[in-house]
Amino acid sequence: MTNRPELPPEIARRRTFAIISHPDAGKTTLTEKFLLYGGAIQMAGQVRAKGEARRTRSDFMKMEQERGISVSASAMSFDFDGHRFNLVDTPGHSDFSEDTYRTLTAVDAAIMVIDGAKGVESQTRKLFEVCRLRDLPILTFCNKMDRESRDTFEIIDEIQENLAIDVAPASWPIGVGRDFIGCYDMLNDRLELMDRADRNKVAESVKMEGLDDPRLADHVPADLLEKLREEVEMARELLPAFDRKSFLEGHMTPIWFGSAINSFGVRELMRGISEYGPAPQPQNAADREIAPEEKPVTGFVFKVQANMDPKHRDRVAFVRLASGHFERGMKLTHVRSKKPMAVTNPVLFLAADRELADEAWAGDIIGIPNHGQLRIGDALTEGEALRFTGIPSFAPELLQSVRATDPMKAKHLEKALMQFAEEGAAKVFKPMIGSGFIVGVVGALQFEVLASRIEIEYGIPVRFEASQFTSARWVAGPKDKVEAFVNANKGHIAQDHDGDMVYLTRLQWDIDRVGRDHPELRLTATKEMM
Ligand code: GDP
Repeated sequence: MTNRPELPPEIARRRTFAIISHPDAGKTTLTEKFLLYGGAIQMAGQVRAKGEARRTRSDFMKMEQERGISVSASAMSFDFDGHRFNLVDTPGHSDFSEDTYRTLTAVDAAIMVIDGAKGVESQTRKLFEVCRLRDLPILTFCNKMDRESRDTFEIIDEIQENLAIDVAPASWPIGVGRDFIGCYDMLNDRLELMDRADRNKVAESVKMEGLDDPRLADHVPADLLEKLREEVEMARELLPAFDRKSFLEGHMTPIWFGSAINSFGVRELMRGISEYGPAPQPQNAADREIAPEEKPVTGFVFKVQANMDPKHRDRVAFVRLASGHFERGMKLTHVRSKKPMAVTNPVLFLAADRELADEAWAGDIIGIPNHGQLRIGDALTEGEALRFTGIPSFAPELLQSVRATDPMKAKHLEKALMQFAEEGAAKVFKPMIGSGFIVGVVGALQFEVLASRIEIEYGIPVRFEASQFTSARWVAGPKDKVEAFVNANKGHIAQDHDGDMVYLTRLQWDIDRVGRDHPELRLTATKEMM
């Protein structure tokens, strides 16, 4: 990944990224401060409801009821330092879902937030691995430095060893815990001082002529200053210096130390994104790479959110623009159905408000309200039959059967389930033999969330029960062979919401046996969506 100097300025100034972190590290707080500095909200505290809401399960359900909040926070745009930031939210609850992976297919970079006292935690590591698969550049923010934290070298070592990535300090903390007073900006030789009294105040920033500048002593107590000089000298010897190319290739992460709640270090991190990028990157399609500067507009759906307004069954498809300059009212081709689609009411997500988008450029995320035509993985183009690749659909790891407690509502339940399947919230399989449905998810909490949503959004109380199956695999191969296999194994076959055949079993042994007996077939754990 490199920045491409030939990009039109409107595209070059875009920064589309996500925040990855373990719950509680400070993602919500940092997001608030981004919006505050981006001028998108007046006072921090407006996205708070969301952060607090996912503390407990019952609160999480409540948040799902108040979907307006979580939806508007799915993608947020704001300006900073002449750059347009598009922050795409990674679904935060502790259960890992496919949504999280897909979100990371729509961004060009990620900010990794870690808690200075806890270091690299499990969820962070998982998300980091996904970023690594795509060689995404990562900027690190070590948060909560106002509290007792680990030794700076120890934190950096842990990241280097745990995640196998070079870490280059962009700033260096001065003092620990109650004695933490700020940071020395190692990239720009500035002293940044934290104000504990006013949490929303921008830190005082003083230009220095390097670490020997005598004016440092005016601001930093002697013992802390001596330690700072020692540590920075050691850091410059032991740690790699920031190298932009290595960062853009995903081999090195610059680290800033700060305290999101005290608005400290946030601005420096944002400047880092502005200055070092990356700008919108090319996207992979089946036959070629799509460069952002290409004139024709192209984009792909990476997320679908249904029932944003429970009174209307509308949905919003979130589209990452891969190329071109989009203007409202444009007629695009919906590649899967080969039908034209006039995009008259696209939505840009400006903080808490939804706003009609008059124009958007490669790198932007727009929301397209629709009645179900747009599905995850779909391409929109100006006519070319593109298929974007790399948007995965995973085999669910947990299967349960579901039925409506009121049998009269079975038909309605089918509709509700199909909608969730299209939204990507779950896999829904209709077995060839018998009635009812089998629902597959990747994390157990998703069953509860689904049950709650089906009841709230559709008024259908449901019961999830253990299924006789525990694994699902898509069946791929020549059409006649698939048909013959399906007919011979009806008791194990179901269809997913696209009508594709799925083999259900409870034994790995069965899967291996099919592989041996039917070399012409492939049983796959992921299905690439199109
Ligand atoms: P998320 O789960 O990653 O979104 O984390 P939140 O932003 O909701 O923060 C988790 C908790 O840490 C909240 O109680 C925050 O007030 C607190 N917090 C966030 N940033 C800081 C910080 O810089 N210092 C301290 N002491 N607490 C913080």
